[in-house]
Amino acid sequence: MQFDLQVGVDCSISIEMKDVGNLSDIGNYTSCPLCLSDVDHIYHEAKEKSYGQMQFRKYYQCSHCSLVFLAPELRLNSSDEKKRYLEHNNNPDDPRYLDFLMQSWMALEPFLKKEVKGLDMGCGPNPVLANYIVQQGYEMDHYDPYFYPNDITGKTYDFITCTEVIEHVYDLYTFFKKLKKLLVSGGHLALMTDLLHEGVDFKKWYYRQDNTHICFFQKKTLNYIEGNMNMKLIKEKNNRVIIFKKL
Ligand SMILES: [Zn+2]
Repeated sequence: MQFDLQVGVDCSISIEMKDVGNLSDIGNYTSCPLCLSDVDHIYHEAKEKSYGQMQFRKYYQCSHCSLVFLAPELRLNSSDEKKRYLEHNNNPDDPRYLDFLMQSWMALEPFLKKEVKGLDMGCGPNPVLANYIVQQGYEMDHYDPYFYPNDITGKTYDFITCTEVIEHVYDLYTFFKKLKKLLVSGGHLALMTDLLHEGVDFKKWYYRQDNTHICFFQKKTLNYIEGNMNMKLIKEKNNRVIIFKKL
């Protein structure tokens, strides 16, 4: 996801899909999108069937923050990525979609005081969760780089919801820096993403089958964020819902 949040630092990246026919054309060395460490450990690589076509997939694992991520040269370009987002089955009228997103809100709300203001970051084409939170009496903005590129320059929030977003983001280092800048001290960040945990068979993992899912967090990655970004991990539930508090 090519986030350009217009809050001071341009993080837009444009990367074209390469012809992946020849493995030797692709280097085995890159930098971690979250902690910027040099990474050469290949976690998984294979030619696999995806969307009816054989595609080469290669994932690195960062030894510093444990992030597992798709080789940058294999990411979708922005027009294909947007097309895939529009194909996502996120029907705003489907109560199961709201129930799914609600997992993060149910975990977050007990930490919030009344009269606080939030941001739904990366809401996609339908700001379903943001609308629900507004109905609960909270003031809420929403932002999406493709569908709602609203100007949030200079704004700050008491809480940010970011559901099913971070697995899409190309430049996680800049993205987290911006999330921190948007949050007030003591503010809460609710992330939702499927964590890569010991029970996952990565080769067959459904979460990896979506071409737009390019970064996978492990518990050690959350610990890295806690230890390096002035954030305290205050809740983690079902290997999916994560709440941080900005210190
Ligand atoms: Zn890293």
